[in-house]
Amino acid sequence: MEAMLWGGFASSLATALGAVPVLFMRSLSHLWKDVLLAFAAGIMVSASMYSLIPSALDLSSLTVVAIGVLLGTVTLTLLEKLVPHIDLEHAAGGSVFPAKMPLERRSILFLTAMTLHNLPEGLSVGVSYASGREDLGPLVALSMGLQNAPEGFLIALFLIVNKVPKAAAILFAFFTGLLEFVSCIVGYYMTSVVSGLIPYGLAFAGGAMLFIVYKELIPESHGHGYERSATFAFIIGLLTMIVLTETLG
Ligand SMILES: [Zn+2]
Repeated sequence: MEAMLWGGFASSLATALGAVPVLFMRSLSHLWKDVLLAFAAGIMVSASMYSLIPSALDLSSLTVVAIGVLLGTVTLTLLEKLVPHIDLEHAAGGSVFPAKMPLERRSILFLTAMTLHNLPEGLSVGVSYASGREDLGPLVALSMGLQNAPEGFLIALFLIVNKVPKAAAILFAFFTGLLEFVSCIVGYYMTSVVSGLIPYGLAFAGGAMLFIVYKELIPESHGHGYERSATFAFIIGLLTMIVLTETLG
């Protein structure tokens, strides 16, 4: 329980820490945006396919895992349809919005986009701690933290491009991280209280994250002429997680 709180908090805090470099810069090339998104995608795929889904399989059956993964995918599909949001990369570029759209409205759209993204990530950390499987909780917390840092950076960058003061931009990144922390706690309690939910929760979080990777992150990191660099960043993210899992796990 205490380990979950510390792990979940540290992982979520990485969103704010990742935002700090905006204090020293004003813009970012498309190459780097694509590379950061693809790196985050690589880590998310690794966490799903290498930690969450195999752990769910160990604890249950193929049927449970298939149901969990599909539920995660369907839930994210529905959430995306219901919640008005904008895609991460367009947001970071700041160009998708009509110039006359008031900042509050833009910020609300962006906030919902990030909330959506952070829900399964927090969930995966919470359920991993609840699973009682040695090292799974800290490992998933670490992987989510690693990909939260570039995500927090892109959030803060979007805000300063939109003339939000730098301190407020970092605070906002911290806030989206806080939502991830809440989702972590909810995931932990839901799966600890209702027995038998843990493998579903792990598979659900895995499916939901794969949805985000394939539906959002990979398309967003393409189309600007840096597909090759993004592909390498994706593979490096993937390998980073495999190395961490093998050395720490
Ligand atoms: Zn992510």
